[in-house]
Amino acid sequence: MEKIKMTTPLVEMDGDEMTRILWKWIKEELLLPFIDLKTEYYDLGLEYRNSTDDKVTVDSAEATKKYGVAVKCATITPNAARMTEYNLKEMWKSPNGTIRAILDGTVFRAPIIVKGIEPYIKNWKKPITIARHAYGDVYKASEMKIPAAGKAELVYTAEDGTETRELIHNFDGAGILQGQHNLCGSIESFARSCFNYALDTKQDIWFATKDTISKKYDHTFKDIFQEIYDKEYDERFKKAGIEYFYTLIDDAVARVIRSEGGYIWACKNYDGDVMSDMVATVFGSLSMMTSVLVSPQGYYEYEAAHGTVQRHYYKHLKGEKTSTNPIATIFAWTGALRKRGELDGIGELEKFADKLEKACIQTIEEGKMTNDLAIITTIEHPTILNSEEFIQAIRETLEKML
Ligand code: NAP
Ligand code: MG
Repeated sequence: MEKIKMTTPLVEMDGDEMTRILWKWIKEELLLPFIDLKTEYYDLGLEYRNSTDDKVTVDSAEATKKYGVAVKCATITPNAARMTEYNLKEMWKSPNGTIRAILDGTVFRAPIIVKGIEPYIKNWKKPITIARHAYGDVYKASEMKIPAAGKAELVYTAEDGTETRELIHNFDGAGILQGQHNLCGSIESFARSCFNYALDTKQDIWFATKDTISKKYDHTFKDIFQEIYDKEYDERFKKAGIEYFYTLIDDAVARVIRSEGGYIWACKNYDGDVMSDMVATVFGSLSMMTSVLVSPQGYYEYEAAHGTVQRHYYKHLKGEKTSTNPIATIFAWTGALRKRGELDGIGELEKFADKLEKACIQTIEEGKMTNDLAIITTIEHPTILNSEEFIQAIRETLEKML
């Protein structure tokens, strides 16, 4: 079989630990034999980030703006222990945070549905995609402990010095205080990313806040979404046969649980943090979640939703075989290849991505899987494979399909 040709390179962001090992195996076994793979390679492994003073992360994000599509391996976000382990010059920031700040995007996470890995909620038949706003609110809040009685106010000082004040509370004893903010520009980007992604994937989109209680803060989110929807998206949504739907967050939670799935649920930052863990847990495993960062300009960065699987990596270093699940990392590649194919008009590349995903699902449905799935599957007597054997099994399924 002739290899599929590519025209524009993918931005390839390599990563750390066990996922870095999987990355190499996936390329060797599932991509390079079939595709004349064109990538612009950036090593986001912690050692190279450290030796370039993290410039490589910034460069890889800039390259994503140039080419439009990136695929990223999981990376270490350094903490105190990593400072000594890798002898770091500085506690470098999270690469995902840096990339997100440059691309100004929204992260969409969706479960990969497989027969035999059944959601805990029986009526969830289709994926639920969580779109999480990744800026502000409680994540950028200022906080204060109030020691004793006194008055607390919100004060905004305009550039000309005029002050606007709003009483928070007259404390008659000790208490606590928190100041949150968000930016209209960031909320607008969030709204556009959500609406674009809904059109892209032809799914309805739900958005919910607590605007009945938070009449200015949350209500602004609701208003911005509605305004952008009415002005820029209403007609396109109607043409695509999809819907934008706003409700209160508590109503949304109840509706989500009763639903069949098959839509995007846009969440404010905190709601998205909490609800994405709930959705991932109901569907089974973080290793069966896709994750893509979509910028309002239409740049895409695909990754796995899980981390570098450190515990497995240390076993791997000792020469032990590990049963680390490569599915989310494979789907990061297929997502990126499909998008590249779509943008460049290379149908063969899109078809290949579809087939590789099907091969992954079929292999699991035939009972061949990694340990994390074997312990939750409803398939009887599954064959537990190590990562290399599992990737090999996927390759065999894929070759039969091609
Ligand atoms: P993790 O890598 O997601 O792993 C946590 C545990 O979840 C693993 O020990 C393993 O459980 C299970 N697991 C996760 N992915 C799996 C897979 N593909 N196959 C099988 N089991 C899997 O999270 P972490 O250990 O908290 O973080 C490790 C490093 O990843 C940290 O340095 C963190 O900064 C980084 N991180 C990166 C990203 C990212 O780049 N997107 C995201 C999160 C964390 P068992 O050990 O029980 O088998
Ligand atoms: Mg969380």
